[in-house]
This record gives sequence, structure tokens and C-alpha cells, in this order.
Amino acid sequence: MVEVIVKELPERPKPGEKVQLPNGETIRVRHVGIPWLLPPKKVCNDPECPWHGHLSVRGQIFTVVVESVHAGLPQ
Ligand SMILES: [Zn+2]
Repeated sequence: MVEVIVKELPERPKPGEKVQLPNGETIRVRHVGIPWLLPPKKVCNDPECPWHGHLSVRGQIFTVVVESVHAGLPQ
């Protein structure tokens, strides 16, 4: 298993910006496809990170109407 390296930046990076990790690896901050979501200050090298890896979150947004917050008991 590969150890995930996290680097905290003083300011939020912009999507498309490249950040160098302490191990010399260059990470590109991606656009996740959700307009109001800003990239986090921390940059990591986790391949399953939506911002810095290849995990896709786009196309999985649902708009729903909540009808009840109670699961309800069987009658
Ligand atoms: Zn990350």
C-alpha cells in the first residue's frame, strides 16, 4: 500500500494549478465539475481523491425533495 502524502498550502489552490509535494511529486488540482465547490487548501497524492486523483464525482449529483425524515415503523 502506498502512503498518502498531504501538504497544506497557505491559500486555496485554483483548479488547474500544480503543487509540488515534499517527495518531489507534482500534483495537479482538478476541476471536479461542481461549480460552487472550491478546492481544499490541502493537496494529497491519493489516487482516489476527487481533487488530486482520478475519482470522478461529476454526474452523481441528485436533486431531491425530502418527504419525510422518519423511516416509519411497520404498521
Ligand atoms: Zn486530495
